[in-house]
Amino acid sequence: MNLPPHLSVRDSHLYIGGTDTVELAERWGTPLYVTDEARIIEKFRQYREALEKRYPDVRVLYAAKANGNLAILRTLAALGAGADVFSSGELLLGIRAGIPPERLLFNGSSKSREDLSLAVANNVPVSVDSLDELHQLDEIAGNAGKTAQIAFRVNPALEVPTHPKIATGLATTKFGIAHDLIPGVYREALECRNVDPVGIHCHIGSQILEIEPFARAAGVMMKIVSDLTAMGVNLRFVDLGGGLGIPYHHDSDPVPTPEDYAAAVVPIFLEGIRKAGISPELWVEPGRSLVSDSTVLLARVNSVKDAHSKFVNVDAGFNLLVRPAMYDSYHEVLVANRAGGKPEEIYTIAGPICETGDILASDRMLPRIATGDLIAVLDTGAYGFAMSSQYNSRPRCAEVMVRDGQAALMRRAETLEDLTATMVTPPWQR
Ligand SMILES: *Cc1c(COP(=O)(O)O)cnc(C)c1O
Repeated sequence: MNLPPHLSVRDSHLYIGGTDTVELAERWGTPLYVTDEARIIEKFRQYREALEKRYPDVRVLYAAKANGNLAILRTLAALGAGADVFSSGELLLGIRAGIPPERLLFNGSSKSREDLSLAVANNVPVSVDSLDELHQLDEIAGNAGKTAQIAFRVNPALEVPTHPKIATGLATTKFGIAHDLIPGVYREALECRNVDPVGIHCHIGSQILEIEPFARAAGVMMKIVSDLTAMGVNLRFVDLGGGLGIPYHHDSDPVPTPEDYAAAVVPIFLEGIRKAGISPELWVEPGRSLVSDSTVLLARVNSVKDAHSKFVNVDAGFNLLVRPAMYDSYHEVLVANRAGGKPEEIYTIAGPICETGDILASDRMLPRIATGDLIAVLDTGAYGFAMSSQYNSRPRCAEVMVRDGQAALMRRAETLEDLTATMVTPPWQR
């Protein structure tokens, strides 16, 4: 199996960022998420450089929902990243990580008044998803004596080749405003006293492995940019969203890179702004492609069972990594303490959750596995821990960050006590 440069095999052990995963698992216990900081830095730079060499005024907003650990947000903040935030929690994480508020964008189709108030109080621009929301925001900003900077989220009505649950630019999704209605909503925003329409935004979906949909979306957006400029809207940024996929199958054909993305999309952006006669910032919002391959999930083998399949029962399941159960996703799997071993058996890696669907990987040819071995699930940095739960009353696991042979906790494991910490006894039970 092809391994990215931050993963390697030494003396049959899987290493990440110069540290031995077998030692990490012994030191902090399992399950354990391990993230290589240097890999995230490298990915961020690749992304930004691909765009910046074609247009200098680029802003990369990390989609915080992919992985909201503060250590990761801090890493990206230090590189100058902004963040796409989708909740009050993500907004506060972004600010706490040191991202300047003007580099955040508060997205989402269902923001509460509290969400909007928090954005206004912190001077965070808002991507508005409906006229209803526009008027609520106008009122909230007015009450606060402020002007809210806004974009509208465009629904470009595009089919994109990805899992239907993560295609967000279809005409039928809950996201955004139909592109033919966009001039009308900007006109309405121009009439609001307390909002300033300074941007435009779209995001067509996630885990997209073709460049063409991004180019099509950019085309739709630049047409709108031109119309809006003619209407007198003064656009300061054009945000084309995120969604570039990653090669979860390591031996598959090469997939598009940020360079391919930039080569296809930036010329369309440049042509559009030339026609409109403006020079706004170009914003993009990658999540998965920045953090996914930085991280492995380590799980201990509790037992091996020879049944319908050869089941390897491990201590992490869809409570910690829901993608296989939710999107039928594929993740590469290694036996971390026998990483150099010859593949000899076909195994199914099953989690500890009381559901048939709790399978992390099916029918994988791996070295012979015994109880106590360590399984590494690769490419789990995006939508891994971020989507974890306490289902089956399992405390969430710890997260460790490594860098050049150093390792440190970036989130402690929850304890059994943490499970009941937020529960309250109704008075009649006392
Ligand atoms: C999820 C999301 C992203 C990031 O998507 P990726 O597929 O992780 O790159 C960007 N923008 C918005 C609005 C999102 O909801």
